Amino acid sequence: MKNGVMIQYFEWNLPNKGEFWNQLKKDSKHLHEIGVTSVWIPPACKATTSDDVGYGIYDLYDLGEFDQKGSVRTKYGTKEELKAAIEELQKNQICVYFDAVMNHKAGADYTEKFLVKEVDPNDRERQISDAYEIEGWTGFDFPGRGDKYSNFKWHYYHFSGTDFNQENGKVSIYQIQGDGKAWAEGVDGENSNYDYLMFADIDFDHPEVIEDVSNWGKWVANELNLDGFRLDAIKHINSKFIGHFLDTVRKERGEEFYAVGEYWRKDVQSLNDYLAALDYKVDLFDVALHYNFYQASKKGKDYDLQHLMDDTLVKNHPEVTVTFVDNHDSQWGSSLESQVDGWFKPLAYGLILLQKEGYPCVFYGDYYSIGDKQSPHHLIIDILLDARRKFAYGDQQDYFDHPNTVGFYRTGDDKHPGSGLVFLMSNGEEGFKTINVGENRKGEVWYEFTGNIKDEVTIDENGNGTFTVEGGNLAVWVKKG
Ligand code: CA
Repeated sequence: MKNGVMIQYFEWNLPNKGEFWNQLKKDSKHLHEIGVTSVWIPPACKATTSDDVGYGIYDLYDLGEFDQKGSVRTKYGTKEELKAAIEELQKNQICVYFDAVMNHKAGADYTEKFLVKEVDPNDRERQISDAYEIEGWTGFDFPGRGDKYSNFKWHYYHFSGTDFNQENGKVSIYQIQGDGKAWAEGVDGENSNYDYLMFADIDFDHPEVIEDVSNWGKWVANELNLDGFRLDAIKHINSKFIGHFLDTVRKERGEEFYAVGEYWRKDVQSLNDYLAALDYKVDLFDVALHYNFYQASKKGKDYDLQHLMDDTLVKNHPEVTVTFVDNHDSQWGSSLESQVDGWFKPLAYGLILLQKEGYPCVFYGDYYSIGDKQSPHHLIIDILLDARRKFAYGDQQDYFDHPNTVGFYRTGDDKHPGSGLVFLMSNGEEGFKTINVGENRKGEVWYEFTGNIKDEVTIDENGNGTFTVEGGNLAVWVKKG
């Protein structure tokens, strides 16, 4: 996957028109032309309503095929339209990653009565009530789908917890009681045990659940001819199940079947530990780098750019890291809001698209639009994608040696004649760096590829060039001609 680029092809505020799979299909050729090699599509299973982004998931086996929850289609369209979009993407040599939402289920068909204990939301291992009976939304029989694809029906004992008692309307975290019932092991340690996130939390210690959801993984990968998964909310799911799930799907689809997990923690140690627990079977998003970008964008010139890459996943485990700037959860108004300020986004995209390490992911909201507001970054991302394809090859020499101006030199390689580049960013005044690009390059004339700077640089007889960057901007220097 030389210089692969993923795009997260959705944001939180897309219109509920059922036209999105058609839009994606139409956009396939363009995505190929700009250098996109994989698309992370929005969660495609039937959710609570067609207004739902898809994380309020109702039925894993309904991809917009059955009249359930008020419509056949999902927010994005029908299953047939989804299949057509995927075929078109793959015709354009673009891989398709499915957003697998496996932590929970929402919009149950009926209530059931069962025993629970309430727990302290900040300390989930601490029970704050005796066992008593509630009426919870845990019965799923999928009247619109029936037994097609799977005859599995969900009951309260397939879940570990829920948060609403229909009998009295009380919201709490209810841990479901029963033989051997407990919060899952192998989940994040926040709040003592972060198994429970929302809705009816699936119990991945239950053998019937393990079997049906693993079968679903094989089924959906085959049915849609998928190339990989983006695994939602994995810090809330037993890591042992995730390992088993990936083994099962890869046995069916091949070892190269891709997976990246969303483990939303900014401390890199948690990410390292998770990767080790999963034996590096899964890539993770570099949430630590995202938060460094966020901090840098907020602090402006007071942020010491020499530390921009400190304690990031891409520095720890570059071979299993997906780098990104923002996503649907960090975007303004979302649950994990930490949106990188606009002035810094081109700098951050320059870094992830031109550096050697990491599998970069471009966010739909940064490239196209958020709601009906066009992104101001469309053009610069196009330019950086173009630079990635043409010049971003070879080894990398870092110049993180000044608080306000940092960058790196990519040496280029023999397979890509004329390749190599100097990337610089500044969060303060105009800056410059003298960089040795090798004596073999003496006499070469370099120019600034984004068009921010009009001067040219001639490499001297020792192989040195002095490259500049505007204050608060980025510069990409490449060989002319
Ligand atoms: Ca869970």
